[in-house]
Amino acid sequence: MPATIDLAGQSFGWLTVVRRCGRNKHGAATWLCVCGCGQSTEVAGTLLRRGLTTSCGCRRTRAWFENQRRVRNRYGASRVSARDDYEDAEVVF
Ligand SMILES: [Zn+2]
Repeated sequence: MPATIDLAGQSFGWLTVVRRCGRNKHGAATWLCVCGCGQSTEVAGTLLRRGLTTSCGCRRTRAWFENQRRVRNRYGASRVSARDDYEDAEVVF
């Protein structure tokens, strides 16, 4: 089990991480986040760091998924380019 990276205070899309919550049913560390729309939500850190969750759900649209799919098709099995600046960018699939 890798060490938990402290995400408090960081922003991912519309989400700003407030504090560590606990663990989800998969054993992954979860974080309490506040969305730009004002809702709070609990998100696994891996989803935040991979850029897979960027809002409480209010901004997750079909267009977003389509864009992700286009990016992956273009770059093959490389990292999702928009998230390359993340310190622990990794192969997503
Ligand atoms: Zn929201």
